[in-house]
Amino acid sequence: MHQMKKLIAANWKMNKAVPEAVSAAEELKKLVKNAKNAEVVVCPPFTALEAVGKELKKSNIKLGAQNMHFEGSGAYTGDISPLMLKSIGCEYVILGHSERREFFKEDDMLINKKVASALSHKLKPILCVGENLEERNRHWTQEVLEKQLNNCLQNVTKKQMKNVTIAYEPVWAISRGDPNHKAATSKDAEEGHALIRNFLSIIFDRKTAENTRIIYGGSMKPENAKDLLSRKGIDGGLVGNASLNAKSFAEIVKAAEN
Ligand code: PEP
Repeated sequence: MHQMKKLIAANWKMNKAVPEAVSAAEELKKLVKNAKNAEVVVCPPFTALEAVGKELKKSNIKLGAQNMHFEGSGAYTGDISPLMLKSIGCEYVILGHSERREFFKEDDMLINKKVASALSHKLKPILCVGENLEERNRHWTQEVLEKQLNNCLQNVTKKQMKNVTIAYEPVWAISRGDPNHKAATSKDAEEGHALIRNFLSIIFDRKTAENTRIIYGGSMKPENAKDLLSRKGIDGGLVGNASLNAKSFAEIVKAAEN
C-alpha cells in the first residue's frame, strides 16, 4: 500500500505583484513552519518567482512555476525556459493546467514535450489532467483521463515517474476565482484518482502506480480539505483560489498534516 507525504501546492495563477507575493510568502512561512508531514509548494507568477524564492530560502516551502517552454533557450518571445526556472531555485513546475489547455490551446503533444523537458532539467512536473463538464456528462471521464495520461507521459520512464506528480483537476470543479464554487465530492475525487492510478499501473506497472503522487485540484478550501485529503489515494492538493490567502492555505496544509 502506498504511503507518502502529502503534497499541498499553491497555484497563485495571474495574481499578486511582487510586494504582495513576498508578503504572502512571509506570512505563509510563519504559518506552516512546523509542517513536517506535508510537503508545501508555492507557485507564484513568473515575475514574483525570484523574490518569493529568496523569501522562502531556509524555509520548508518549495518553489514552483506555473508553466514553462520546453526548450532551454531560443527565439520564443515571451516565454520562460526550464533553465531560467532552475537558476532561481524552482523545484516544481505545473504543466498542462486546464487554463493553459483552454485559453492557450496547449495540447497533449506540447505538454508531453514540456514534461520530458522538465524531467531532463531536473524539475518536477505537476501534470494536470481532468475532464470538462460536457465530457463528464457524456460519461467520458475515464476515456479522457486515459488519453491525457497516455499522451502526456509518452516516453517517460518508470524511474522518471518518481519525480512526476499527477494533479486530477476536474475542470468543472475549478473555482475560476469563485470562492463558492463547488468542489468535486470526495467520493467523485476518489474515483477519479482510482481511474488514474489504475491506468498508470497499465502503462507502467503496479508499483510505479502506487508510488506516484496523485493530488486533487478544484475548489479545495479549508472547509472541504480534510474530507478530500482523507480519501484513499488522494495524496495532496493543488489549490488555486484558497491559496491566495495565506491563512486559508495554511489551514489546508494543516488538514494534510493529520
Ligand atoms: C487550479 O486551477 O489549479 C485550482 C485548483 O483552482 P481552484 O482551487 O481555484 O479551483
